[in-house]
Amino acid sequence: MPYSLQIGAIRCHIVSDGRQRSDGGGFFGLVPRTLWEPVVAPDTKNRIPSDLRCLLIESEQGLILVDTGQGDKITAKSRGFLGMTDANRRLIGDLAQLGIAPEDVDIVLLTHLHGDHAGGATRFQVGNDPNSDVVPTFPRARYLVQRQELADASFPNERTRGTYFPENWEPLHTAGQLDVVAGDQYLTPSVRTEIIPGHTASLQVVWVENGGESLLFLGDACNWAVHLERLAWVPAFDLDPMISIESKRHLRGEAMRRNALLIFQHDAQVVTGRLQEGKRDPIVQVEIGEAAWRPEDVL
Ligand SMILES: [Zn+2]
Repeated sequence: MPYSLQIGAIRCHIVSDGRQRSDGGGFFGLVPRTLWEPVVAPDTKNRIPSDLRCLLIESEQGLILVDTGQGDKITAKSRGFLGMTDANRRLIGDLAQLGIAPEDVDIVLLTHLHGDHAGGATRFQVGNDPNSDVVPTFPRARYLVQRQELADASFPNERTRGTYFPENWEPLHTAGQLDVVAGDQYLTPSVRTEIIPGHTASLQVVWVENGGESLLFLGDACNWAVHLERLAWVPAFDLDPMISIESKRHLRGEAMRRNALLIFQHDAQVVTGRLQEGKRDPIVQVEIGEAAWRPEDVL
């Protein structure tokens, strides 16, 4: 079920490509399990759920989709490894509930090229046939990717190659639909991106600002709400944790100043919230929450 929001005159929808399970240590890094366990209980394999949220913006210049989830190209074995079931709500289904077909999307903005964000950018041409060509999922869209991110993804190292798969972006280039950009971008007068390094060198977050209201799609700059409340809580996934901390300090200030509506991409319990002054650090006042996760839940 999509969540629809209004930011001034701009209509936005939080959609999702479903959920997967990831190792709790990946999301919480150096933080001991005894500290993060009260926030989200892990299953018997120490995994916690990770939502694959995306944002659809009805902008002044057409439909902008931010991120695409895992998509349908991953193998059944990988889906099993990620704890995904076919019962998942998926991105294309959520868009259909809004009356939007893939060919309606004008711009796809990829915050970065990790598999759980860019996997849905392309699909097999023939159903789920892995021997068919891989083509853009959104046939009319311009796909926006940061130049630095494309370079890092194209020449991965031992640590990053497990999440960068060329089939997620090379078909976009072949189809002439890939726009490589560098630095912060204004997509429309109300929609802009900001480079927030740490998770990757050129991760981009998305701001929607209209009529005095602000929305901040945090992407992997801040996976869970608690990561924004506690600056030292940095995922092990982040390539440069000290820079992540400074990036989060910056985002906290900007979000507080604008009273921005925050969207958490992976938090299985907090979908949106706003920052409020707390005793020591700001706290996230939840606006849309999902039922607390239990380890025995089937995704
Ligand atoms: Zn990522």
